[in-house]
Amino acid sequence: MRLTEVAQTWLAERLEEGDIAIDATLGNGFDALFLANQVGETGYVYGFDVQQDAITSSLERLKDTTCTHQYFLAGHETMKEYIPTHHHGKIKAIMFNLGWLPNSDKSVVTKAETTLIALKQSLELLAPNGRLTVMVYPGHEGGDDEAKQVIQWLHQQQNVFIQTSEVTNKPQAPILIHVEKHL
Ligand code: SAH
Repeated sequence: MRLTEVAQTWLAERLEEGDIAIDATLGNGFDALFLANQVGETGYVYGFDVQQDAITSSLERLKDTTCTHQYFLAGHETMKEYIPTHHHGKIKAIMFNLGWLPNSDKSVVTKAETTLIALKQSLELLAPNGRLTVMVYPGHEGGDDEAKQVIQWLHQQQNVFIQTSEVTNKPQAPILIHVEKHL
């Protein structure tokens, strides 16, 4: 079992055919593919990444899925501008996988400052009872500070349930943060 599967299983409990979901860090597109399969033909998946390669490979990965999907070559800190206003407050699931993309340019890495802006917008975009997962990497260079800031910021938010999952028998393992929005 990997923490990415733990994240997907937790979100799948909330996702139904026709729902709207966001992959905030497309990377190689595996989370977007999972979301697409959950929301089905009548659902929507929005995705963000700042690297064209990530957009291209994620589009390729979703070519056989039937949902409506739209990917933006844009930072997730601008997501609210891209998601149509009639979908604000209706998003059922949002996924973040922070850090850098394995086997690619390590200088393109998520940064606490913009991640926190994106998380704030995500909490606004989520539907009541909607779920958000954030995978943080304290073992990566710069990842420790980002993980601390993300956890600290989330703990200051009202009306959210927060739980973390950690792999305790593996060094440098990521931490999965589960967030559920309450009214
Ligand atoms: N660390 C994970 C993979 C993370 S991929 C692992 O080890 O499996 C993170 C993705 O976020 C990358 O594709 C990167 O291009 C993207 N990214 C970086 N900054 C971003 C931003 N501001 N908005 C959206 N995506 C961003």
